[in-house]
Amino acid sequence: MVEIKSISMRYGKTVALDKVSFFAKKGEILGLLGPNGAGKTTLMRILITYLYPFGGTATVDGYDILRNPLKVREIVGYMPESVPLYEEMSVEEYINFVAKARNLEGKKLYKRVNWVRETCELEEVWKHNISELSRGYRQRVGLAQTLIHNPSVLILDEPTSGLDPLQIVSIRKLIRQLAEEKTIIFSTHILQEVEALTDRIVILNNGRLIADGKKDEIISLSGVSQKMVFTVKAEKEEAEEVFRKENLGGWEFVGKVSQGYLKFSFPLGKGREYLVGVLERVFKEKNWPVGEKEVREPTLEEAFISLLKKR
Ligand code: ADP
Repeated sequence: MVEIKSISMRYGKTVALDKVSFFAKKGEILGLLGPNGAGKTTLMRILITYLYPFGGTATVDGYDILRNPLKVREIVGYMPESVPLYEEMSVEEYINFVAKARNLEGKKLYKRVNWVRETCELEEVWKHNISELSRGYRQRVGLAQTLIHNPSVLILDEPTSGLDPLQIVSIRKLIRQLAEEKTIIFSTHILQEVEALTDRIVILNNGRLIADGKKDEIISLSGVSQKMVFTVKAEKEEAEEVFRKENLGGWEFVGKVSQGYLKFSFPLGKGREYLVGVLERVFKEKNWPVGEKEVREPTLEEAFISLLKKR
C-alpha cells in the first residue's frame, strides 16, 4: 500500500533522512518510532507530497509521490502534530469548509460530514467555536478533517500528543477501529503508544532506519537478553561485592523490597543453569535467604535503548 524507496532529505547541511526504505501493507498499523529529531515528521511530510525529497521516492497505492502528487493527496489523510484550525469558525463550519475543499458536494458531502461527526464524537461541540475547544476536541476536529474524504491511508504525526489519559484511550480506540479498513502510519516517541497500537514498528535515529519488524523481532534484533530477577535478603554493598567477584557482568540493582529483601536482575547471557548455579551457591555460602526468582522477558524499551546506543 505504501512503499518508501531509499528516501533522503537534507536541510542545508543537516541530513534529516538517509536512504530510508520500508513499506506498510494494506490494513496495517505501522508505528514510526524515534527520538526527537530522528526524521519522522520530515518523512511524513514527504509522503504527503508537502516536501520534495532530496533523493528516492515512494508510492501510495501504486501512485508515485513525485509523478502523481495530486492523486496521492486524494488517497492520503494527514494529521500534523498541531492541527492548524480556523479559530473563528464553528466545528460545523470548519468541517463543511474542509469537505468542500476536498470537492465533496450534495448528498456525498452531507453523508461524509455526518460520518465524521459521529465517528470522531463531535456532536457535543458541533456548534461551538473552535477557539473554545479543549486540546482533546481539537485533536478530534483534526482527525475529522483528516478523514473527511475517506482516505485509504492515514498519516498521523504524534496523534495523542498533549492529551490526557482518558483522551489517549479514546483516540487509540478510534485509530484501531479505523485500521479495520485503512492503512495507518503514525509517529510517536512514546513506547507505550507503539505497544498499544501497532502491528509493526520502524525505528529511525538520526535520519537512518535502524530497525523494522514486529515487536518480538525488534527485541531479538536488539540482542537484549532475557533477565533473571532474584530477591535476596542481604546488605546491598556486600551483595554487590560478591556479584562483582563472581564476574556476573551486567547485573543491576532493581530496588528494595519489604523486610530487608533486595531485588537484583541478571542478564541470562551465559544461560539460565549457569546463573542459577552460581547464585544459589553464593546465597547458600552467605546464608542469605532467597525470596522470588523469575525470568523476565526483555521490554521494547530496553530493546529501543540498546538499538539507539548501537548505531
Ligand atoms: P522528528 O519528527 O523525528 O522529531 P524531524 O523530521 O522534525 O524529526 O527533524 C529531523 C532533522 O531535521 C532534525 O535535525 C531537525 O532539526 C531538522 N529539521 C526539520 N525541519 C527542518 C527545517 N524546516 N529546517 C531545517 N532543519 C530542519
